[in-house]
Amino acid sequence: MFSLARAVARKRYGIDPAELRFHLVEAAGRILPEVSRSVSGWVAKRLTHKGATVHLGTTVTSVCDGVVELSTGERFESGLIVWTAGIAANPVIAKRTDLPTNERGLIVVRPDLQVGTRAAPLPGAWAAGDAAAVPDLAVGGSALTVPNAQHAVRQGKRLAKNLVAVIRGRCTQPYRHGSLGVIATLGLGDGVFESGPIVLKGFPGVARAPRLPRAGDPDLGAEAAGAGRVGVGRLPRPRHRLAALGPAAGLRVQARGPGLVPRHAPP
Ligand SMILES: Cc1cc2nc3c(=O)[nH]c(=O)nc-3n(C[C@H](O)[C@H](O)[C@H](O)COP(=O)(O)OP(=O)(O)OC[C@H]3O[C@@H](n4cnc5c(N)ncnc54)[C@H](O)[C@@H]3O)c2cc1C
Repeated sequence: MFSLARAVARKRYGIDPAELRFHLVEAAGRILPEVSRSVSGWVAKRLTHKGATVHLGTTVTSVCDGVVELSTGERFESGLIVWTAGIAANPVIAKRTDLPTNERGLIVVRPDLQVGTRAAPLPGAWAAGDAAAVPDLAVGGSALTVPNAQHAVRQGKRLAKNLVAVIRGRCTQPYRHGSLGVIATLGLGDGVFESGPIVLKGFPGVARAPRLPRAGDPDLGAEAAGAGRVGVGRLPRPRHRLAALGPAAGLRVQARGPGLVPRHAPP
């Protein structure tokens, strides 16, 4: 978004990109939960270096008449707000069922996707996908799988196989999906790639492993950005919008990204 705005402002409207203000507000103490903490820190510094203001451990408390207020007490005007604060579990689960849920309202499941815990399984109840708190065995610890289609589809298959296993008196298998690596694009020709101990930063980060899934499962827009192109075809009347904003426009993005609900369960 930062790169897009700067590129569009400069190339199409003659607005000095230095006049744009970009705030990224993140409730957690870090961004990009899909990558390691050190890589996440590097990305935050990179954004800051490019001119963005990154607010970590901060929430938006109010957005009214174009004025944004943060939990830190800071207030600023914003001409464009992008809200990507993630998803929440359907409240019907916690309020209208007696299924066990965690502090975020997600159904507690065992690694084999049966509802309950190893000590207290709930016979005949299974859950998968966005509504389930599925342990991420590939990461370990208290990590949960992120709510995206890549996990949901695979979990659905595992759940079906485990149902068949139960019917046939066989052992169930835990859900486990290890990613080959993660790429996060940071704008035009910039990004970070991480796979195990291998970390590529900057241009190599987006150029060396283009076929791997992006952090947060970005779509074609991210692919285009990674390839150094900017498309504005999907923006509703971008020319009118930017022209109306004027050179003093501020840009602000609320983290976190698509499907980027914290991967790690809160302690
Ligand atoms: C805008 C957007 C873009 C996304 N892009 C990507 C992407 O690029 N890549 C990726 O991997 N993931 C992406 N995701 C995430 C992905 O769509 C979800 O992780 C995935 O669909 C989850 O599958 P699910 O089966 O758990 O839930 P869903 O696909 O949400 O299915 C749940 C179903 O349950 C139904 N339902 C809800 N409440 C009830 C009820 N009380 N009774 C009966 N039925 C009910 C709903 O109508 C829905 O049909 C995106 C999500 C969104 C919103």
